[in-house]
Amino acid sequence: GEPSAVSARITPLADGMAVAEFQDISELHRVERVRRDFVANISHELKTPVGAMQILAEALKDAAEDPDASARFADRIQTESARMNHLVTDLLELSRLQGAEKLPDPEPVSVDRIINEAFDQTRITAEKKGIELKSMGVTGAEVLGNDTQLVTAVKNLVGNAIAYSPEGTSVEVTVSVCRPEGSVAKSETICIAVRDQGIGIAADELDRIFERFYRIDAARSRATGGTGLGLAIVKHTAVNHGGRVEVSSMPEAGSVFTLMLPARSLPSDTAAPDSDEI
Ligand code: ADP
Repeated sequence: GEPSAVSARITPLADGMAVAEFQDISELHRVERVRRDFVANISHELKTPVGAMQILAEALKDAAEDPDASARFADRIQTESARMNHLVTDLLELSRLQGAEKLPDPEPVSVDRIINEAFDQTRITAEKKGIELKSMGVTGAEVLGNDTQLVTAVKNLVGNAIAYSPEGTSVEVTVSVCRPEGSVAKSETICIAVRDQGIGIAADELDRIFERFYRIDAARSRATGGTGLGLAIVKHTAVNHGGRVEVSSMPEAGSVFTLMLPARSLPSDTAAPDSDEI
């Protein structure tokens, strides 16, 4: 770990004595280092597409006489600028989530709608890989929170499931009323589990994948348009909603990411029976 560091402030007193105050600054150093790493990461991630666009624009000029080559270079400039746009969008989203202590004006949100919307936003990518999107489990559940943030979180999980799976597999989203282990929460929890039949994640990577910019295979992540921020966004959204996110995975077999959120209302078939029914 980090060696502990101490700062001392000496305040002389009138009678020749002095008071020394000590403060452990290792935490400050850690925070500062994390911030510096983050800025270095952002700079690197932004420089990659910008550098590529510069070279491609140059190539485009040189290929003025060759319409086929020009079209190819123009396409790649579009791809790189889309990547940059995606990265900046994710960065803004993450900084908004990290800045917010709690959700502004939470509203009831339908879990079915979140999933439909997340599927709509990932359908084209899934179809390109021949991946089937399925949803199952209970319907009619509601959580309290921010619709857009929740859709983004589920979309990120479904998008990853598609990105890290081979062609022709399926991605299943299952909604259930669950009570996480060790939970003492009074309210029930809604679990949204996103299961894939993809490449899976080694046990020693499971903790790290939620860190900003952490990727197991950066080249693969970039090739699939990843920013390395998707799971950090999911984690912050879960926490801001009073919930959390868990993952279990088996390399070569697939992964399950479960978003757990406090229920606002339960699906009608799982709700507690009315007293006059007993
Ligand atoms: P990225 O934009 O790289 O996908 P994320 O924060 O969404 O960034 O994910 C971080 C890393 O976790 C990915 O680069 C990938 O290595 C791994 N990962 C995320 N989801 C899955 C999944 N469903 N299957 C296998 N690996 C995954």
